[in-house]
Amino acid sequence: MIAVTDLTSYMYCARKLYFRKVLKVKEKIQELPVKGIIIHKVYELVGRNDREIIASFSEKDSLEDLEMKFRKNYYKTILLVLRMYKKNLKELDLKGLEMYQDIWPFFLEEAKEKSKDLYGFAKNKNIYGEELWMCLPRGLPEIRVSSESLGLRGIVDQVNVDEGFTPVEIKTGKAPRDGVWKEHKVQVGAYMMLLSEHYGKEIKEGFVEYRIVNEKRKVVMNDFLREEIFDLIAKVNKLLESDVKPEKVTEGWKCDNCGIREICYSSE
Ligand code: SF4
Repeated sequence: MIAVTDLTSYMYCARKLYFRKVLKVKEKIQELPVKGIIIHKVYELVGRNDREIIASFSEKDSLEDLEMKFRKNYYKTILLVLRMYKKNLKELDLKGLEMYQDIWPFFLEEAKEKSKDLYGFAKNKNIYGEELWMCLPRGLPEIRVSSESLGLRGIVDQVNVDEGFTPVEIKTGKAPRDGVWKEHKVQVGAYMMLLSEHYGKEIKEGFVEYRIVNEKRKVVMNDFLREEIFDLIAKVNKLLESDVKPEKVTEGWKCDNCGIREICYSSE
């Protein structure tokens, strides 16, 4: 069974996927990806304390009080994640403090936006504490799904239960001017197909949330996208059984950021 991320890796560079999956070459983590990995991990862990923060929010609390609680939570979570990735940072000769200084403004903004949204929601509905927590739109984090019939598995960042089990993929990198990147469209499309089977209901849309621009952009399922995903599943399976390395990509910038560049360029 292949992973949804194998499909997007194939789209990015089939040769790289071949090196990693068939020849078992370990990729060196690069500075840019490690930053993305750290930001993603902070998002993954920071929500664990949301219930406590939200349930303790009362009518007397100000917007600043709420923002401060979220800020502290981000701060503690960033430190925890930096400790988790200490070894990777050291290998790249990066200092934890520099990484912290780099990502902290981003999470400060997150804390501000999050508290503003929650404060507005609570005031509008006039509900606080535990009741507020219970009334918030629900999203299930990190859902693992797989399908024997599709031969596919994946971990969905978030599933919005209140919106018909729609998948949300959180991205911390650059966002396109409009819409979503083609790899992200396939990723969310594949999650829609997996979740449709998992929950036994048709899921017609999903979202990519680009945190950098604070926008949730829609991906709609249609026959073309479904066909593209089936085609990619077949191509990836073929690649994994092949003994021929695919050609190098023509986009040089991909190679500049590649963690197996040396091995790739020294083999035919
Ligand atoms: S160096 Fe370029 S061609 Fe080689 S695996 Fe990396 S991205 Fe692909």
